[in-house]
Parts: sequence; C-alpha cells; structure tokens
Amino acid sequence: MKVHIERCPFCAHAEFIQARQYAPEAYVSGEAIFGQQLNHTICRNCGSVVRSYVENPENLLKKKNRRAKD
Ligand SMILES: [Zn+2]
Repeated sequence: MKVHIERCPFCAHAEFIQARQYAPEAYVSGEAIFGQQLNHTICRNCGSVVRSYVENPENLLKKKNRRAKD
C-alpha cells in the first residue's frame, strides 16, 4: 500500500519539497550504520518535515539479519 501525503498535517498546505540528506552515520540498536541516504518530504509553507525515510531499510541491518532476496 502506498500512502500519499496530500496535505501538511500542521498547516494544510499542499506543496512539498523533496530533499535528500546524506547521513554519514545512523545508529540502529546502538550500532553505527554508515552511508545511508535520508529522504525528507518537507512542507513548502511551514517547513515541517512531514516524512523522513531511507530507500533501503534492509541496509540498516547487518547482512546476516537481512531477508534473503531470491
Ligand atoms: Zn506545513
């Protein structure tokens, strides 16, 4: 299911800016994971970050904990 945000939940504005941020390190369960790209959906009107996400969440896990892709 794809959720599409149509309006900012804070100011009801309907225009967003997509921003990418290189996150040099992130911590998952206390362990540093390097090289993740953070994507942000930012309200053009009030600047609220409505959504932040990584494109490949599996990459946040150690190789042995990733789901096998066949
Ligand atoms: Zn807003």
